Amino acid sequence: MTALSPTPRPTARLNREARLAATKDKVRTRSFLVRNKYLFLRRLSQAAVLALFLTGPLFGLWIAKGTLASSMTFGVLPLTDPLVVLQMLAARHAPEGLAILGAAIVLVFYGLVSGRAYCAWVCPIDPVTDLAFFLREKLGLQAKGWQPKPETRFWVLAMVLVVSGVAGSIAWELVNPITHAFRVVVFGSVASLTFVVAVFLFDLFVARRGWCSHLCPVGAFYGLVGSRALVKISTHARDACDHCMDCYAVCPEPHVISPALEGAKTGASPVILSRDCTTCGRCIDVCDRGVFRFTHRFDASETAVGAAVRSNCSGETP
Ligand code: SF4
Ligand code: SF4
Repeated sequence: MTALSPTPRPTARLNREARLAATKDKVRTRSFLVRNKYLFLRRLSQAAVLALFLTGPLFGLWIAKGTLASSMTFGVLPLTDPLVVLQMLAARHAPEGLAILGAAIVLVFYGLVSGRAYCAWVCPIDPVTDLAFFLREKLGLQAKGWQPKPETRFWVLAMVLVVSGVAGSIAWELVNPITHAFRVVVFGSVASLTFVVAVFLFDLFVARRGWCSHLCPVGAFYGLVGSRALVKISTHARDACDHCMDCYAVCPEPHVISPALEGAKTGASPVILSRDCTTCGRCIDVCDRGVFRFTHRFDASETAVGAAVRSNCSGETP
């Protein structure tokens, strides 16, 4: 690991054909599995979370009892969605001690690890919105469609708490697509499928990445919780970037990438510090130049592999 000396941007020297050829060469050297490693790991993680709740009803082996909102694992580990506890407080309902303990555990975990890791690694709606995004791209549907502003999710979050206060109940849980997706998988609820399909159709036909990146109050809440979290993605080899835009194309929150990836000019850290990053690792998967990696928020080191990678990929002299 060394600090980088200023390097001319590769785009200044490579024409588009050369960059595409370079990308193809790199693709051939990375297997399908490697190019989708974190995607598969995330699906495994999301399935494993649901499996913890399914072993009871299916095989009589009760690992986790309850729901994603409030559960008990192995009879000793209470976990509660802190947003549910906040709604209870707004509705003037006193949560039980166990619920508060469960919420504290969840807050500490996501506060330290990464708030929005919940979105990428746990939430059962994520595969649904990812599928809608995939189909939207495949079908060549209108690039962005109607898009609410990304900060709309924070207004929705505020509204969720206000409504709880006014209604005196945890009203959001009646319509929360995450709760309904859980019910579909674990309880086989057909009625709940309506809410999941609604999110899917919204993302497919109305707004690109509409739900998770613009509206969901749960994602907004966990983003706030993880504002200072430790686990981050770094563009540690940003001088190797050939501006193919693959990372922007797959990232659910593409605005988080530029400050780090383009930050060499201004001396900005290569670490993606935005609370909106879900630490999904998809940028690591798709980047054939090895620009991204998992790290911690204080790791400002860079890897001077750019010249070598550019040379390997394009045959140019570094
Ligand atoms: S934004 Fe909301 S629905 Fe989307 S993955 Fe995150 S918590 Fe789940
Ligand atoms: S920057 Fe990478 S890890 Fe963060 S949300 Fe985008 S694709 Fe996922």
